[in-house]
Amino acid sequence: KALDKQPLNVEETAVLLRCDSPELIEEIFAAARELKTRVYGNRIVLFAPLYIGSYCVNDCAYCGFRRSNPDSLRRTLTKQEVVDQATALEQVGHKRLILVWGEHPWYTPESVAEVVKTIYDVKSDPHGEIRRVNINAAPLDDAGYRIVKESGIGTYQIFQETYHHETYAKVHPKNTQKGDYLWRLDGLSRAFEAGLDDVGIGALFGLADWKFDTLALVAHAVHLEKTYGCGPHTISFPRMQDASGLDLETFRLVSDDDFKRIVAILRLAVPYTGLILTARESPELRREVMAFGVSQIDAGSRIELGGYTEVGDSQVQVVEKEQFKLGDIRSLDEVVRELLTDGYVPSWCTSCYRLGRTGEHFMEFAVPGFIKRYCTPNALTTLQEYLIDYASDETIAVGNGLIDKEIQAMPESEQKTTLLTRMAEIRDTPKRDLYF
Ligand code: SAM
Ligand code: SF4
Repeated sequence: KALDKQPLNVEETAVLLRCDSPELIEEIFAAARELKTRVYGNRIVLFAPLYIGSYCVNDCAYCGFRRSNPDSLRRTLTKQEVVDQATALEQVGHKRLILVWGEHPWYTPESVAEVVKTIYDVKSDPHGEIRRVNINAAPLDDAGYRIVKESGIGTYQIFQETYHHETYAKVHPKNTQKGDYLWRLDGLSRAFEAGLDDVGIGALFGLADWKFDTLALVAHAVHLEKTYGCGPHTISFPRMQDASGLDLETFRLVSDDDFKRIVAILRLAVPYTGLILTARESPELRREVMAFGVSQIDAGSRIELGGYTEVGDSQVQVVEKEQFKLGDIRSLDEVVRELLTDGYVPSWCTSCYRLGRTGEHFMEFAVPGFIKRYCTPNALTTLQEYLIDYASDETIAVGNGLIDKEIQAMPESEQKTTLLTRMAEIRDTPKRDLYF
């Protein structure tokens, strides 16, 4: 059923989760690899996180920003600092960001919208611009979502962290905002009801039983699909990392082997939902898990407030300045080069949401033919931009080879002719952002 690109229901997902024999697990991995290639092809979308504020009224037991952590260095970026961070990100070639905040009365929907607009306005030489800003922040009410949507965001992400009530209550004290399980669970339903139909769900693995939370993610996706005619755009599955003042031993950490099963099973269960694998994981594990169905990764990430200019490419992570520790702090160029070497096409495409292909409309397009028509050509034009404007010589060499190969594999068509014209325009003129 999964290989036929049909979403699995919760019971069917449970069957996959119960498979413990190495042969069956290998079969699941193989199926996930195949489905990924069939649905998403070999593209990987790239983005970077940008932390805006680390003040927080909550006390999540796993997070460096929790209010009871006296060692956390609190900070909110000023408008100029936001501009500086966005400029630094543009200058290495980023086009897509996810903005992250702690939860605090200062971080109102208006202030979130203001930061989003500030970032869209930052243009830097020669062709730097952020074309899509996603948000990971506290759940809002209807009015809040409308304000944030107005500023032109892409996806609004809220991770339930764990769907297991008892565990949720243990790590989120009752007297905090985040202690209200249902307010959070309902957060993205309110987003849909306020007209924001591009949402991301997620669970923090390392809190409750991983099988339970994987099933719950699928149940949440099924619920959104049933109720609003459209499932989540993305699912995230961050794994617990060390953070300031944390004793990792007290958590229910998920092994690498089980983590791979989570990714592969999610791929099979929700064939048209993007899967996000973050730089929390090590380069080696990312490289392996990518093939199981990941569609987006972050690269060149810094999660210290101000980290894109103040820490630069330093390999030193200061845990008090961060929400948690990152596993992969390679530069964007290095990650792009590895992707290209492994046969992936890195993509900075932002076409869908700018052309209104989101929510229900997006689902209409997410059928065979969509990728050929839009995703692959857009991946190639954005890769061409990256190679010309930002890449190192080594990356250019591998990238050009892959572009040639991809284009050769395309059958002749009117669209291929248009694509070739656009690729030449990007190469020979200052024209950019030519999307299908
Ligand atoms: N403060 C908002 C919230 O809690 O929804 C915004 C998101 S928070 C800054 C981003 C996400 O990081 C959290 O939802 C959580 O899943 C994840 N996170 C927190 N502590 C973590 C840790 N120690 N390791 C890995 N991920 C962590
Ligand atoms: Fe605050 Fe979010 Fe960290 Fe919880 S996870 S302490 S809400 S920043």
